[in-house]
Amino acid sequence: MKTITSVATAAIISLALLAGTAEAQERAEWSLAIHGGAGVIERADLSPEQDAAYRAALSTALEAGAAVLRSGGSALDAVQAAIQLMEDDPLFNAGRGAVFTAAGANELDAAVMDGTDLNLGAVAGVTRTRHPVALARAVMEQSPHVMLIGQGADAFAVEQNLEQVDPSWFFTERRWRGLVSALEAQGLPVPERPAGAPSAEAQANLPAPPLNERKFGTVGAVALDSEGRLAAATSTGGMTAKRWGRVGDVPVIGAGTYASNIDGCAVSATGSGEYFIRATVARDICARTAGGAGLQSAADAEIAQVGELGGDGGVIALDIEGNAVFSLNTSGMYRGAVSSAAEARVAIYGDED
Ligand code: ASP
Repeated sequence: MKTITSVATAAIISLALLAGTAEAQERAEWSLAIHGGAGVIERADLSPEQDAAYRAALSTALEAGAAVLRSGGSALDAVQAAIQLMEDDPLFNAGRGAVFTAAGANELDAAVMDGTDLNLGAVAGVTRTRHPVALARAVMEQSPHVMLIGQGADAFAVEQNLEQVDPSWFFTERRWRGLVSALEAQGLPVPERPAGAPSAEAQANLPAPPLNERKFGTVGAVALDSEGRLAAATSTGGMTAKRWGRVGDVPVIGAGTYASNIDGCAVSATGSGEYFIRATVARDICARTAGGAGLQSAADAEIAQVGELGGDGGVIALDIEGNAVFSLNTSGMYRGAVSSAAEARVAIYGDED
């Protein structure tokens, strides 16, 4: 089902991928939705090969999470499995393939939330942990805290025996070129190419970026498992050329990530993070749902508010019945959904069902 609602500042594209068939009224046994970033993503900007590469990457991540849920695994394990694959995939702005700070570094943010007990873990500005979502989960499960930043978060990752990599692991030529153009456009100095960065030739086998790339490439997942538990997780490199230790919405719980079995709702966002923080998007979608609003209208209302403030992006959200909805005010969002009652579907452009 697809509806397009015009609001004052932007067209909100609403896409409800029901967990079951249109006739199905019962809750799906399990359900999963993912995103790989929203933005200006037009058909003309992606070659058939690039379009196929994104769809394949989304399908692979969706299947990794679905395999967990199908075998009776937890929503937390499912969102982590899906996100770790996307963190390793240079197509997305998370883990390997993350965007660069103005100083030429990759500083990664991630969060995970368990809807059953409102427990959560978040990290910001980590530089050496291969899978920031795994670190966020360790913060939730193995520390007395909910949010760690920078060197402390990296040190905790070492203590937890999480895989550490040289910072050059995250380097991709595509994101480096994106940084150089952004800095030149802003009249800011271009830093030295990072030590240990692979040469452009060494990365020649990586897919070329879409033309006119103007998108956010954060990755996220929301899941409902067969025991009725909801979870959400999000991982990102943030915004190209970010400065001064900037942290976006992803690890700010209630902004880019939220899950609550009390509200019956799980959300992961992507977009201009400052606006998602200001509008407390993820928490407000769940609060609206708990207050009786339909999940789609709750998501649309929050995205409309982001647009009114001047921001753009999108969300994926799941309700306790396993219904997945997407809402965006950009022309596209890499996304997908699958459930016990519906086959996997992936989409890129805003006008796809
Ligand atoms: N929301 C992310 C941030 O502001 C960026 C993205 O979605 O790609 O850090």
